[in-house]
Amino acid sequence: MVLERGEVGHSWRRERWDSLRLLTPNWQTRLPGFAYDGPEPDGYMTMPEVVAFLARFSEAAAAPVRTHTTVTSVRRDDRGYDIRTTAGDFHARTVVVASGACNRPTVPTLAAGLPCTVHTVTPFDYRNTSTLPDGGVLIVGASATGVQLADEIGRSGRRVTLSVGEHVRLPRTYRGRDVLWWMEASGVWNQRYDEIDDLVRARRLPSPQLVGTPERGTLDLNTLAARGVEIVGRLSAIRDGRALFSGGLRNQFALADLKMDRLLDTFDEWAGTHGRGADVDPPHRFEPTRAPVASRLELDLRRGEIRTIVWATGFHPDYSWLDVPVVDHKGHLRHDGGVVDDAPGLYAIGLPVLRRRKSTFIHGAEDDARDIVEHLAGFLEG
Ligand SMILES: Cc1cc2nc3c(=O)[nH]c(=O)nc-3n(C[C@H](O)[C@H](O)[C@H](O)COP(=O)(O)OP(=O)(O)OC[C@H]3O[C@@H](n4cnc5c(N)ncnc54)[C@H](O)[C@@H]3O)c2cc1C
Repeated sequence: MVLERGEVGHSWRRERWDSLRLLTPNWQTRLPGFAYDGPEPDGYMTMPEVVAFLARFSEAAAAPVRTHTTVTSVRRDDRGYDIRTTAGDFHARTVVVASGACNRPTVPTLAAGLPCTVHTVTPFDYRNTSTLPDGGVLIVGASATGVQLADEIGRSGRRVTLSVGEHVRLPRTYRGRDVLWWMEASGVWNQRYDEIDDLVRARRLPSPQLVGTPERGTLDLNTLAARGVEIVGRLSAIRDGRALFSGGLRNQFALADLKMDRLLDTFDEWAGTHGRGADVDPPHRFEPTRAPVASRLELDLRRGEIRTIVWATGFHPDYSWLDVPVVDHKGHLRHDGGVVDDAPGLYAIGLPVLRRRKSTFIHGAEDDARDIVEHLAGFLEG
């Protein structure tokens, strides 16, 4: 039985902004036995298209989904798990936590120091620029969400300042292919969790600076700066109504460029050893991220220059309904490849690098689900 608090595809229906498209290409949007079969395999789905895709999959799979059923508590007992919901109570020997990795936008605690004249928004509240007050916008965070919103809000004519911390730079295409084609073909995205040296770090990596548009354009910091977005360092404090930014931009940029180049080296090496060099364009490298000559270190938020702050500082899961002691002090579920620690019969899916680097993406569900179900079936038999 699948319990869902809203409709199938709830997060894509309710928790995304209007213009969002998947950053994964259509050919990669696939679930077990079900793949995109439209005329644009290299395009990127809009939100209504994603919702329709998931609804069709749910129908084809005849998944026993109970919609509008919010799980309010899961407790362990002698025989398994006692499940309370808004539509009745259930009992199950096994439970798979598939409630998502991005249930809540993360807002840093320093937000408490903001002057009350500044309007704040998270990616869950933001729909389009028409709902923002006129005036300047400070976007905090430069991963996929931050760069996409900086671009959209900048195009509305507002002055945009983008505060950049650690980020993952990726070109949209490399050697004539989508960068996610390279990630998949070279095996990088299939890398297993137990083969990754620093798994804790891999699980905390921010999403890559990517956008899915019909033009298949790259949206990195150079692109945004050329469009007039002001780039500043990481937001380190809010003091006396002033936002203070760290000065380490040049290092942040150098690190992100270095990591991107290393990844491109991996792709080139794979193409060479697998005889794929002739199928793609010749190797090349991208212009390093241009550091501003002198980046601004503070911004007086009381002066009215900035009317809105957008917290593009990531998302986190919500386990408030899980009454089993399996969540650590940072709010992460303790598990080994989706098999939850110290809770026989409790599993998880859809979390970052759960079993593979691709685990948190739509197409990553299939392999992980197979592994999890195999373990779960063994548990039920055993
Ligand atoms: C802004 C954004 C953009 C993204 N873009 C992409 C992309 O381009 N490509 C890609 O592959 N992935 C993308 N992702 C990742 C994406 O979230 C996952 O690929 C996919 O949605 C994960 O599916 P899921 O079912 O694990 O989680 P979710 O889609 O979050 O689904 C979890 C479901 O659980 C339900 N639920 C939660 N709590 C309860 C409860 N207590 N009781 C009952 N039901 C509950 C929710 O309503 C929801 O429907 C993006 C994520 C975000 C936040």
